[in-house]
Amino acid sequence: MRTITLANGETVEVECLSCALVDGLIEPEGGVVVETAHFHAHQDVAYPIPGLIILASKRHLKSLDELTEAERLDYITILSEIRKAQRDVLGIESVYYFYNEDTTHHFHTWMVPRYEWMYELGRSVESVRPVLLHARNEMNDEANLKSVRQAISALTEELKR
Ligand SMILES: [Zn+2]
Repeated sequence: MRTITLANGETVEVECLSCALVDGLIEPEGGVVVETAHFHAHQDVAYPIPGLIILASKRHLKSLDELTEAERLDYITILSEIRKAQRDVLGIESVYYFYNEDTTHHFHTWMVPRYEWMYELGRSVESVRPVLLHARNEMNDEANLKSVRQAISALTEELKR
C-alpha cells in the first residue's frame, strides 16, 4: 500500500493508483477527462497545473511492449487527440511526455504542459521535478485550483465524442 496526497491536500492509501482510479475507488479531481475502450485520462491528482493530464491504461500492465495492437492504436490516437485539445482550448504550445516502467503504478503517460513560469526552473527533463514540486507546494491556492478546474472542464468538453 502507498499513501497518495491528492491536490486538495487529503491523503488516501491505495495498492495501485491507476487501478484505484479506473475502478472508481478514487474520484480524480474534476472527473475523467476522456475515456476510450482501453484508456482513460484525468487531471493529475497530485499537481495543480492546468492541463496536466495522465493517460492510463485500463489494464494493469507496466511496459509499452505489453500493449496489444488494439491498445497501441487506441493509445496513440487518444494521446494525439488530448494533445490537440490542449493546444486548441488551452493554448498550450509545448508538452513534455514521460512514462516510466519501474513504477509502482501501472502504465500511464504524463502529459506535462509547459508554461512560462516553468522556464525559471530550468529546461528539459531536469526541470520536471522542480516544476512539479513548485506546483504542489506553492500553487495550491484557490485561484490556481479554479483555473485547473476550468482547464479540466474545457478539455472534457472538447474531447466529447
Ligand atoms: Zn494497476
